[in-house]
Amino acid sequence: MWQANVFTIFPMAFPGTLGVSLIGKALEQQRWRLNLIDLKQFPVKSDRIDDKPYGGGAGMVLSPEVFAKAFDTLTPEQQNLRRIYFSPRGRQFTQQDLKNISETNGITILCGRYEGVDQRIIDYYQLEEVSIGDFVLMGGEVAAMAIIEGCVRLLPQVVGNSESIADDSFQGQLLESDIYTQPACFRGMTVPSVLQSGHHERISRFRLEQSQMLTRKLRPDLWGKYVEKQLRQAKD
Ligand code: SAM
Repeated sequence: MWQANVFTIFPMAFPGTLGVSLIGKALEQQRWRLNLIDLKQFPVKSDRIDDKPYGGGAGMVLSPEVFAKAFDTLTPEQQNLRRIYFSPRGRQFTQQDLKNISETNGITILCGRYEGVDQRIIDYYQLEEVSIGDFVLMGGEVAAMAIIEGCVRLLPQVVGNSESIADDSFQGQLLESDIYTQPACFRGMTVPSVLQSGHHERISRFRLEQSQMLTRKLRPDLWGKYVEKQLRQAKD
């Protein structure tokens, strides 16, 4: 079963959003497993899990000995999963990263708090530093929920209609086109007539053209890659 092992000092923050909707239902049905490891259960000298930073500075730093004791409680299989430390200075994950992780047996995550964690934890346990954006949160718990949710929704039989995943932004190289529902006219704004036509071929063409236009406008970086791929395919 796909599993997420999460080291945190706030296990009560979970399952949070992981407990609702299709992800929560899949958790209940044991299609995936959430294993929370409370770092506060592994204190070192005089019941501490953190200490002041060497060289001075604000905040507290998670002790490497605490993480070592907690990590030892995992089975060898759990220890060998992809290991991530959430950190603002890390590389930002993409949909492709989530897809790769969802095709393995799971993920092991360390959520930082306060000033962060002792560098030797990252080096010794070869943790991959991952960010969810160029901003600073209080801790890694929200980041962990975001990445786990993104992975679990890609597991087989979690999202009922797998077509809805295939059409998502980032699944291919284009962003998703605009979507509409009833009523056909809202405050003078009407749904594009082609979407009301029932003509599947014209609808697909319209959606593709819209995805291309939106990607070009909103994400020139993705658009460049898309054009490059189209040119390469045309050559082959
Ligand atoms: N001193 C750290 C720095 O400047 O890089 C920030 C520490 S932050 C207050 C505490 C923890 O929140 C981090 O160790 C990390 O686990 C988490 N965190 C904060 N922002 C994040 C982000 N953008 N992506 C992932 N994790 C983040």
